Amino acid sequence: MAEKAVFLDRDGTLMVDVGYPRDPDDVRLLPGVVEGLTACRDAGFHLAIVSNQSGVGRGYFGPDAVAAVHRRLLDLLESEGVRIDDARYCLHAPEDHCACRKPSPLMIQRSAGHLGVDLAASFMIGDRPSDVEAGRSAGCRSILLCPDADSAATAADFVAGSWPEIARIIRAAGASRGHD
Ligand SMILES: [Mg+2]
Ligand SMILES: [Zn+2]
Repeated sequence: MAEKAVFLDRDGTLMVDVGYPRDPDDVRLLPGVVEGLTACRDAGFHLAIVSNQSGVGRGYFGPDAVAAVHRRLLDLLESEGVRIDDARYCLHAPEDHCACRKPSPLMIQRSAGHLGVDLAASFMIGDRPSDVEAGRSAGCRSILLCPDADSAATAADFVAGSWPEIARIIRAAGASRGHD
């Protein structure tokens, strides 16, 4: 059975999106994240963060701030028994026209290479169309986390209004591939 991963956007997906978070105290997990990530793990998925942090490229704060927020997020998750296997950050501003900023699939592809996972067996979860596009370009199935799901016009394979809904989608996918 192929190794597989759930690639995760960070702001607005794992933690409350406060807009360019720079302080560890900005980190607040969204409801159901711990249970949802645990469900992903139980279904056999590696967990990886792929996040645009253009606050660095825009000059709002340095890479040390991104590292501090990342550390707090990992600490909060680890204290709940959730381990993140890999994390990739794009620190560029849009006008840098870098190769890694989502919707580019590059961070997903690099993470998949590092983890040794099959992209077609994997998911990308995020709260923005750029997350969905990155996932599709990488060859993953995509889940758009969108509290106002009914009005979401999206190319995502699945739309979920909350983390419990994501957990159901992932469990179903894990079960359907259980005999690969
Ligand atoms: Mg986001
Ligand atoms: Zn970049």
